[in-house]
Amino acid sequence: MQRLIMIVALIATALMLEGRSCIAGDPLTVASDFEGASVREVEVDEAIRSISFMPGGDPVRGWPCWWYFKINGITPGEAITLRLRGSTATVPKPGSPLQKPLAASWSMPAQATFSIDGQTWLHTGKGTRQDEWMIYTLKSEAASVFVAWGPPYTPTTAAKFVRAMSEKSPSAKAAELCRSRGDRPVPMLHVREGERTPKQRFSVWVQARQHAWESGSSWVAQGFAEWLLSDNADAAWLRQHAEIFIVPIMDVDNTATGNGGKDAQPQDHNRDWSAQPHWNEIIAAQRKVSDLIAAGRMDVFLDLHNPGPDDPTFFFTLPDDQLKEPMIGLRDRFIDLAYARISKIKPLIPMSNKPKVTGANYHPLWRQISANWVSLNGNPHTVSLCLETIWNSPSSTTEGYRAVGNNLAAAVREYLAERPERN
Ligand SMILES: [Zn+2]
Repeated sequence: MQRLIMIVALIATALMLEGRSCIAGDPLTVASDFEGASVREVEVDEAIRSISFMPGGDPVRGWPCWWYFKINGITPGEAITLRLRGSTATVPKPGSPLQKPLAASWSMPAQATFSIDGQTWLHTGKGTRQDEWMIYTLKSEAASVFVAWGPPYTPTTAAKFVRAMSEKSPSAKAAELCRSRGDRPVPMLHVREGERTPKQRFSVWVQARQHAWESGSSWVAQGFAEWLLSDNADAAWLRQHAEIFIVPIMDVDNTATGNGGKDAQPQDHNRDWSAQPHWNEIIAAQRKVSDLIAAGRMDVFLDLHNPGPDDPTFFFTLPDDQLKEPMIGLRDRFIDLAYARISKIKPLIPMSNKPKVTGANYHPLWRQISANWVSLNGNPHTVSLCLETIWNSPSSTTEGYRAVGNNLAAAVREYLAERPERN
């Protein structure tokens, strides 16, 4: 009898313990020891199951607005709270950018992005602003979940994608633009099909992520490549009549380490298109683009970005008084074709059809901005544009960004088909 009571007591204790762990859950923990991760000042409040944090990143290596980390210990089905505030980091060097903390809005999308498997990225519901905080509610069906400012796109993602495209299509080659100063490979996709010699082809250069935090731009570049290598007859035309270079991530070092990249010391990548660039990616890209210009066939140059919070500006261009015809007319024709397609994407990508002019009034180093440098040093017929896809709309998802890339590639095909063929 005594023994039976003891067994019953043991079972009851076990049930109680089991019951308690169901109610309280495992402790929430945060991991950021992986490629592209960024977070700091993490505080977990177990009582209300909330995680407070700010973006990580060394401000010397660019604006600290990117955040990306993994949460463990979630009870599947429970709703936890993410409490985000802007980074307080500043750069101590006199005269450098970020003497004051960056405006918090750069790090605060209306909806946060999350993924259970690191492949499929979804939006949370809309966050709410409470004083300095942005509060998101996250309901996860798994014990671990990745959360981020927007859908991440790391150097590993770029390398895998470029390899997958080269395996899918004999006209696509996985190449390397260069190795970064941090000795990382910079993956590049090189596409051309058929017998035409390089001289008989148009050239198209597409690059993303000169600013590491702007992850959406890499998804646009991927969408461009996916359309280009699709079964679409127009895509085949483009592969056969052009030679296309696509670099999904220029600043691989800051992307890999979770730094923002924008306004990094000693030089922002997109202010580095000078006579003596600092970054290996710029040296290599500028050399290849210069070769295409020397051959008289730098036809379309596209530099992909994400803009300021809620800014619907899509194309950035030089003022007309800095350019000559036929460049101005060709640029406007390309913008019209691109806008006509991209503005029809469903769900809608908010965008303005009025380009922003980025001349001397925009930035003192305006001549060293990549798209401007290519316009100023290009062929008379070169179309060179910076393109900014909005990051703070319900369509700022992997699907939305890729749809922009698909339509951008189709616009390049439509534009080049109007140009005289090269013989
Ligand atoms: Zn940018």
